Amino acid sequence: MTQTVTVLGATGSIGTSTLDVIARHPERYRVHALTAQSSCQALLELCRVHRPEVAVLSGAEDAHWLTRALADSDLPTRVAYGETALCEVAAAADIVMSAIVGAAALTPTLAAVRAGRRVLLANKEALVMSGALFMREVAESGAVLLPIDSEHNAIFQCLPHHHRGGLSRCGVNRLLLTASGGPFREWDMTRLARVTPDQACAHPNWSMGRKISVDSASLMNKGLELIEACWLFDATHEQVEVVVHPQSVIHSMAAYIDGSVIAQMGNPDMRTPIAHGLAWPERIETGVAPLDLFATGRLDFEAPDVTRFPCLRLAREAMMIGGTAPAALNAANEVAVAAFLAERIPFMTIPIIVERVLEQLAHVPADSLEHILDMDRQARDMATVELERRERSG
Ligand code: NAD
Ligand code: MG
Repeated sequence: MTQTVTVLGATGSIGTSTLDVIARHPERYRVHALTAQSSCQALLELCRVHRPEVAVLSGAEDAHWLTRALADSDLPTRVAYGETALCEVAAAADIVMSAIVGAAALTPTLAAVRAGRRVLLANKEALVMSGALFMREVAESGAVLLPIDSEHNAIFQCLPHHHRGGLSRCGVNRLLLTASGGPFREWDMTRLARVTPDQACAHPNWSMGRKISVDSASLMNKGLELIEACWLFDATHEQVEVVVHPQSVIHSMAAYIDGSVIAQMGNPDMRTPIAHGLAWPERIETGVAPLDLFATGRLDFEAPDVTRFPCLRLAREAMMIGGTAPAALNAANEVAVAAFLAERIPFMTIPIIVERVLEQLAHVPADSLEHILDMDRQARDMATVELERRERSG
């Protein structure tokens, strides 16, 4: 039977890779809705190819433009806009790909969870912000949550099917989260101080959106992934070890109490985890090139350096503080990364801003969406004040 799919963030890097896999399997999947923030031209092109029932944009003006353009092309796709529309299309399909970047994914992803859908979670910020609440909603609604972030998808594949209910129940004592180390793995502090946005966005192994590329370069991405792993697999932060592995061939590992370590390997191409989530527990073709171990040659491993990359330490600290601290970490990081991409602050100021915000705010239990969204706003405001203070003092 054909399953319907909504792709939240369809014009992005994950969104287009998802549509690439879906288009290879028309007998299995039909696109229900495609969404984008403001890239109307790109969304129009996707509507031409994938013929969704609904297309959603953030603003009314963009939506009017798309409505006219679709009519001019004789396409039947209905256009909607705003967060309510996002939540509606998220709740209406059998499968929902959550690939909006940042905190904006939280509400629509929760809508898909509450509707009990198969939720493919590429976005990590939503889970970092709302971990306990998010996982409780998943348990209550019976939604099928499948991790798409390559590391978490790898760990999922390395665990037995019955892993729900804690790692120790299935004999796992550690999760080894691999990190490429990013483009600046070998750079010293002097060079790190002069990094440009384009350098930060040129990842050696993965092609991704700009925000996650900067996070990968600062290792905040690995920090967010550490928090993500704790929630997804019911692990303590001590059970998650970050291992720098520059080749990005092993996507992560699970270590068992008997000494076994199981790794998932493959070329760095997001279509593999995306297809795994779409078809699980079956397997489907993706167009990903077969892994050539002779061309890979060797697999290297090293410990992460939290002196040059303090964001990883800050994320671990936020997880230790708990409650709304990860939401504050994420919000401050989103503001700081946007400022770095706009060339308002140097690369190494990102962790300074995050640390200030994390230290100054009083963290409370993250037991309601209200507390989480309130902390998100407070942390954004504080990060913005901090940015402006730095700009004034030159
Ligand atoms: P991207 O910037 O390429 O795409 C983001 C998408 O979200 C676009 O379609 C954009 O229009 C939409 N969007 C952005 N802001 C929005 C808003 N405020 N409201 C509604 N829609 C909005 O990002 P990406 O690289 O595809 O990453 C998407 C998510 O997946 C991120 O959370 C990222 O951390 C995660 N992820 C990405 C990769 C990867 O390889 N790119 C890997 C693992 C996880
Ligand atoms: Mg990842």
